[in-house]
Amino acid sequence: MNRVAGKIALVTGGAKGIGAATARLLASEGARVMLTDMDAKNGKLVVAEIKKAGGDASFLTQDVTVEKDWERVIKTCVKTYGQLNVIVNNAGIGIAGTAEDTPLEDWHKVMAVNMDGVFLGTKHAIRAMKKNKTTNSIINISSIEAIIADAGLAAYNASKAGVRNFTKSAALHCAASGYKIRVNSVHPGYIWTPLVEGHLKKLGDVKKLRKDIDAMHPIGHMGEPDDIAYGVLYLASDESKFVTGSELVIDGGYIAR
Ligand code: NAP
Repeated sequence: MNRVAGKIALVTGGAKGIGAATARLLASEGARVMLTDMDAKNGKLVVAEIKKAGGDASFLTQDVTVEKDWERVIKTCVKTYGQLNVIVNNAGIGIAGTAEDTPLEDWHKVMAVNMDGVFLGTKHAIRAMKKNKTTNSIINISSIEAIIADAGLAAYNASKAGVRNFTKSAALHCAASGYKIRVNSVHPGYIWTPLVEGHLKKLGDVKKLRKDIDAMHPIGHMGEPDDIAYGVLYLASDESKFVTGSELVIDGGYIAR
């Protein structure tokens, strides 16, 4: 019940999918959670659900690609809750395209959300967290697509691989600086969320494609948002106090083959 009791957690992209599940789970385990997203309607619904279940949560609209938004969000979080202990840099997008046909515009869009967003979130969280006397954790949501590749996901592969090694650089910096901040990445396999559903809709028959993707996971099916949320909970809690610069793969065995 109280694995992250007393911690203040910020979750980006918290309006749906993995971010919403993570916000719900962290709140149910005692954290006070600030959710941010571009999607205010669903973000506020998640906050209402958390409150109904007895948790503490609030919502702010944020575009993670904009540095001024980050300054406002972190300032508001510290003003509202006193400090920031956990950040989950979860907001992310995927645009299909190969190395040969991806328009530069799509490449930039993917890099802006998936890489600039994670960089800015990590940078501003470090600046806020290093003043804390308590322990702190930065969790960057990458993907198995950082470790293996897909011909049709050139920009996504590059962005998530960038998140993977940027996370290690940030972890080393925090450790060398003597900050009580751990920094880790999480690498989901396919998880059934609006992002994946939208991607499959563009490719064709969603039902058939879902079955095909299920079969690519040795465990026999795609994951659920909670499967990732439980990994994030571990990294957010002090149970993982010796874990930094690490990558947690949660993928039903996808990349073990
Ligand atoms: P999702 O269902 O699409 O939810 C992501 C949320 O982030 C959406 O509410 C989205 O809002 C928001 N968002 C997008 N751009 C934003 C921005 N610039 N600023 C703030 N919020 C923004 O995605 P998900 O599947 O839960 O994925 C969450 C993370 O896990 C992503 O980083 C994704 O790459 C990663 N991941 C997912 C899977 C998977 O299979 N689902 C696998 C590996 C990794 P809009 O809907 O309004 O755009």
